[in-house]
Amino acid sequence: MLLQRLVEYSQRVNLPPCLYADAPVDWLIDLDVNGAPRGMIDQRQASGKQKRGNLHAVPTLGNLRTSAIMPLLFCDNGGYVLGRAAKNKKDERVQEQHNAFKQLVADCHQQLNLPETRAVNAFYQRHFKRLKVPDDYDPAETVTFRVNGQRVIDLPDVQQYWANYAATAYKIVGDPMPCLVCGQVKPVVRRHYLPIKGIPGGQGSGMSLISANADAFESYRLTEAFVSPICLDCSERALKALDALMRNPDTSLRVGKLVYCFWTRKPTQFSIVQMLEAPDPVQVKQLLETVARGGIPAQPQANEFYAVALSANSARVVVRSYLETTLPAVQRNLAQWFRWQQLHAGDTPVGVFQLARALYFKADDIPAHVPETLIRCTLTGNPLPMSLLQLAIRRNSAERSVTDNRARLIQAVLYSHNLL
Ligand SMILES: [Zn+2]
Repeated sequence: MLLQRLVEYSQRVNLPPCLYADAPVDWLIDLDVNGAPRGMIDQRQASGKQKRGNLHAVPTLGNLRTSAIMPLLFCDNGGYVLGRAAKNKKDERVQEQHNAFKQLVADCHQQLNLPETRAVNAFYQRHFKRLKVPDDYDPAETVTFRVNGQRVIDLPDVQQYWANYAATAYKIVGDPMPCLVCGQVKPVVRRHYLPIKGIPGGQGSGMSLISANADAFESYRLTEAFVSPICLDCSERALKALDALMRNPDTSLRVGKLVYCFWTRKPTQFSIVQMLEAPDPVQVKQLLETVARGGIPAQPQANEFYAVALSANSARVVVRSYLETTLPAVQRNLAQWFRWQQLHAGDTPVGVFQLARALYFKADDIPAHVPETLIRCTLTGNPLPMSLLQLAIRRNSAERSVTDNRARLIQAVLYSHNLL
């Protein structure tokens, strides 16, 4: 169900085209219509200590890209685009990469015959040596082409060519099978190529949500991603939607090693992230009053609410819990949660991180399951586990004091079991 709901959510966000992803573009090679170079335009801006290019949707192979020769269309690093090895590296394969990149440009132009593809092809055939590469260009940086003001990778025909080419040439899809998400018989993905990034403690290059790389995970003689057959469109939509949820501070909450994503079937003004992360006393008071007045009734057509908790395990994403409920139910449970933790009239509500933090000596010690349990019980209204009480009491005896936040947690556990 998680994948279906993500695919539904993907209709509400602007997705990059098939086999494209948002990534920094550092340089533009500016060409005229005849392919003559006008120069290399620096797109980098200072971000922290580094200079990085603007984010733009570019062709990608995600985590399928290996050290093998695998050119991307019209946009790649200096090895592929300019035949230059990275600094302090002797790479004999750079010329091979560059030739493969030029060949892909030529093949694309032969099929599409657009003015822009003609210009890039002519640049390689006639004008390449005239390009002045700036001294501060690093061959690891990404370069793409602009012809007469038009980025070649933005052309719909080029995007379609890349999707068809990459899906076949790099064997991204296998034989047609019924897709688990949309139910249609379509070629299903061999590996879900889009990595999930941004989970604390995970690999910087990203992790897989769906994968099977050892015999133990395989079934019915199906290997790789064929164990859960999903078509390329559904795979892209689900993973790009999850990426969009994780990047948006209004739909994602990071607590310690955990990322929680929240979304609703229909757009809503209600911010669950703010309520959990840094609850505003005025908004909490309004919520408590509305619920006390019976102002959030169960509606037959209530907006559906979804929540997924993710953590990292080396190269894999761990789905710790997934919840489907309704927005009014969440609002009622949230009001109950704030009542449970309120020590006295006028007590200021506290965010989930501070409560979890109160149970440990330092923030790094918080395991993913503690904030996951706290948030899940808050959203569902289920009793909090007694293990939280145990953790709070242990911390009390270690520190020889009861802090307000531990008192709030102890009270919430007892209330949730009707023991107060
Ligand atoms: Zn599908």
